[in-house]
Amino acid sequence: MNPSEKNVLLIGAGLVGSLLSNYLTKHGYKVEIFERRPDMRKDKISAGRSINLALSERGWRGLNGVGLSDAVRKVAIPMAGRMIHHQDGNINYQAYGKEGQAIYSVSRGGLNCVLMDESEKSGATIHYNERCTHVDLDKNIASFENIVTGRKQTLTADLIISSDGAYSAGRLSLLFTDRFNYSQSYLEHGYKELTIPPAADGTHQLDKNALHIWPRGGYMLIALPNMDGSFTCTLFFPFEGSPSFTELNSKEKVSAFFKEVFADAYSLMPTLKDDFFNNPTGSLMTVKCFPWTWKNQVALIGDAAHAIVPFYGQGMNCGFEDCVELNDLIVKHNHDWSKIMPEYQLQRKPNCDAIADLAVANFYEMRDLVGHPDFLLRKKIEARIFDKHPEKWVPLYTMVTFNEFPYSEALSRGKKQDQIMDQVMALPNIEKVWDSPEVESKILSMLS
Ligand SMILES: Cc1cc2nc3c(=O)[nH]c(=O)nc-3n(C[C@H](O)[C@H](O)[C@H](O)COP(=O)(O)OP(=O)(O)OC[C@H]3O[C@@H](n4cnc5c(N)ncnc54)[C@H](O)[C@@H]3O)c2cc1C
Repeated sequence: MNPSEKNVLLIGAGLVGSLLSNYLTKHGYKVEIFERRPDMRKDKISAGRSINLALSERGWRGLNGVGLSDAVRKVAIPMAGRMIHHQDGNINYQAYGKEGQAIYSVSRGGLNCVLMDESEKSGATIHYNERCTHVDLDKNIASFENIVTGRKQTLTADLIISSDGAYSAGRLSLLFTDRFNYSQSYLEHGYKELTIPPAADGTHQLDKNALHIWPRGGYMLIALPNMDGSFTCTLFFPFEGSPSFTELNSKEKVSAFFKEVFADAYSLMPTLKDDFFNNPTGSLMTVKCFPWTWKNQVALIGDAAHAIVPFYGQGMNCGFEDCVELNDLIVKHNHDWSKIMPEYQLQRKPNCDAIADLAVANFYEMRDLVGHPDFLLRKKIEARIFDKHPEKWVPLYTMVTFNEFPYSEALSRGKKQDQIMDQVMALPNIEKVWDSPEVESKILSMLS
């Protein structure tokens, strides 16, 4: 099949849809994207959820495949570790990986614009204000309504790929097919974005090369740096109970709460009270479903196939990996979509399920554990074993963030390593003997 004879219709020009369009146009496919929002490059609208996000190895690989990593690197801020802000005012730093390894803070809108620019340059057409209302799976027809003019249209294509995010219209159409598995679960926590502005001289008011975390047990605040000297903070907080979004229902209560619980951040947030009430409270959900394809002519990708909570910073990275693997299959099967689609979903599904579970687990680690001495000791022991025996032991965070291990392998190796660490931490006097040859050989024997 000659790709130039195939029309591909993408629903959604978000991060994943725009990246995918770049891969497809480079193969010669005729790509049209229909996006619900206006063109954010002209209308200066926000790109939706989270102002900035953490880009890591899998994401870079996705950008690299279409020649965009250099352009993005120029506007990405490396974060080499987490800076933990304790309630008593103490601060401590934990490197994420080895020297030179970092995750990168990038602007969601900025990244989306780079991807759309490149997509148009390489021949794709993007139609804005077009909301998909339905996909007729058997006839391969997608229906759209223009949100400005109200005009309705139906369009057909050889392939329809639904990259329309967590509330996907394409997925909704699959929901009504026989034997479609679907689960959706919300966390009891939501999130709200707040701001730490730049200092008067335009510099960052906190260390810009770290991801800042204020872990407080049942909830937490985090902050990622922006290029303009500001930080975007995100409060992950229960919807109900005490404390909760429901409880903090006045400016006075918000102020008093932050002053007590996040004192150092509070002193850097002059617009806190307004931000708290002007900015929306977002919810956080995990979506798992299967199959992701229909008759080898319709497919889901990115959050449309697997929305996950953000605590591993992997949602976009995982969606970019979908694009890389789909692209590899296009090459492997020489554009034969009857082979590409089945292999795509079978290959990706277990890995996306794994990162969904890891992301929920990491919420507890970030909000409860990262500040505890036991956690720090565990990480120190792990780092030592990784240093000395990298072929035998790789910390879970490193497998997920700085490598291309399939997520499912990271999950299963991580579980095994965790069980070993539980036993190591129970050894008498471990805080004194953690770097002894005896502890090292015990770990190695348990590994084998
Ligand atoms: C608070 C928060 C923080 C996050 N932080 C990180 C992070 O640090 N690192 C990371 O890797 N991931 C992070 N994520 C996850 C990441 O945002 C998503 O995984 C990523 O945006 C998925 O990209 P997507 O293109 O599949 O979906 P989206 O980015 O949601 O894009 C979908 C696009 O489809 C359009 N659309 C929707 N419905 C329709 C329709 N019916 N018709 C036409 N168009 C439609 C939308 O307007 C949008 O442009 C975070 C998520 C949240 C909520």
